[in-house]
Amino acid sequence: MQKNYTKSISAFEESQKYIPGGVNSPVRAFRTVGGNPLFIKRGKGSKIYDIDDNEYIDYVCSWGPLILGHAHPKVVAAIQNAAEYGTSYGAPTELETELAEIIVNAVPSIDLVRMVSSGTEAAMSAIRLARGYTQRDKIIKVEGCYHGHADCLLVKAGSGAATFGVPDSAGVPADFAQHTITVPFNDAEAVRIAIQQNPEQVACVILEPIAGNMGVVPPTDGYLAEIREITAQKGVVLIFDEVITGFRVAFGGAQELYDVIPDMTCLGKIIGGGMPVGAYGGKREIMECIAPLGPVYQAGTLSGNPLAMSAGIATLKILSEPVVYEKLENRSSALAEGLLEATKAAGVDAYHTRVGSMLSIFFTSEQVVDYTTAKTSDTDRFAAYFRGLLERGIYIAPSQFESGFVSLAHSDDDIQTTIRAASEVLQSL
Ligand SMILES: *Cc1c(COP(=O)(O)O)cnc(C)c1O
Repeated sequence: MQKNYTKSISAFEESQKYIPGGVNSPVRAFRTVGGNPLFIKRGKGSKIYDIDDNEYIDYVCSWGPLILGHAHPKVVAAIQNAAEYGTSYGAPTELETELAEIIVNAVPSIDLVRMVSSGTEAAMSAIRLARGYTQRDKIIKVEGCYHGHADCLLVKAGSGAATFGVPDSAGVPADFAQHTITVPFNDAEAVRIAIQQNPEQVACVILEPIAGNMGVVPPTDGYLAEIREITAQKGVVLIFDEVITGFRVAFGGAQELYDVIPDMTCLGKIIGGGMPVGAYGGKREIMECIAPLGPVYQAGTLSGNPLAMSAGIATLKILSEPVVYEKLENRSSALAEGLLEATKAAGVDAYHTRVGSMLSIFFTSEQVVDYTTAKTSDTDRFAAYFRGLLERGIYIAPSQFESGFVSLAHSDDDIQTTIRAASEVLQSL
């Protein structure tokens, strides 16, 4: 049964007249998987509905924030209540303290936290702060990790940059990128060598503790602990970018799950409950270098926005309830096992990765441990898989190099439906 996409097709024609490529973030355009992007009308729970009224089980979940699913009644009510009071004041509110307190109590590395409006801003500001604090210029970035689109971080980045095969963006002066040293994921020795080769010059190491922007690539045993040890020895600030993993893989993020505590942490996505948010936090001594306490400048007109704070507080309160993460784990492992069986039954070469409710399938016979092995995935095969699922009412990210997300709204039924659809598609590849 061929779905009708008529309205999405004309909406895309219209949007391209006014918006570059018709989209406000590149991967949304479906360029690497083919076909016309869906224009979405609404979402409820695990489902989204496009403007042609097709229904999909959604595993994009707005690229991670919607761990409770779409339009959760408590989140919607929190936003409505906040909006009735006013949408922004540019003056402090108690909501900011309330969310900050939840974050400080949940995330082991964070003594103080500053709110911003996106993950990009969080990572960019964290790096400025690490440089200001250490008075060093160089940073070490891990290949295939994505930290938003700040100039110095668009070097061997994942996500859209990986999807389009442009590791370095045009418009980034070579001078800006020259202070960025890149090393492979899951290679602590490379970090040790890079620090040795640049004595007293490296301000920080930034990485996603579980890579989620080259597809999901978990850290190997001991990798994070080893980086922790190396950086601590050399006075290098260790930054975990937990924009995806924060409040997703555990209430305290990947640092709680693996029991490795960085000096600083970037957050975003889930902590805004679907509203635009980011945050960065860390040790008191480091965080006290930010204005107005210290010499490192960072500011934002809409930072700590009351609607975003309210959506975040409502989301984190629900996540703090008992057995939430067990529930997510059970649904996610059922899905992962079903997909594994389905690829085996279809005789398709695939490498499956999962940590909690983040998961990926790479169409490769190799073991995926870093960016180089992630890129061995057959992206044409992925595109066919994507299109087959879409046609069967399953919406996954339109790129190999992204994570799939299970939410608390996904039912056992949704999971079974998804596995059946995936089996059919895999058989046809
Ligand atoms: C999404 C993401 C970012 C960027 O966040 P934006 O809100 O899109 O700017 C940064 N780091 C990681 C790990 C992300 O997944």
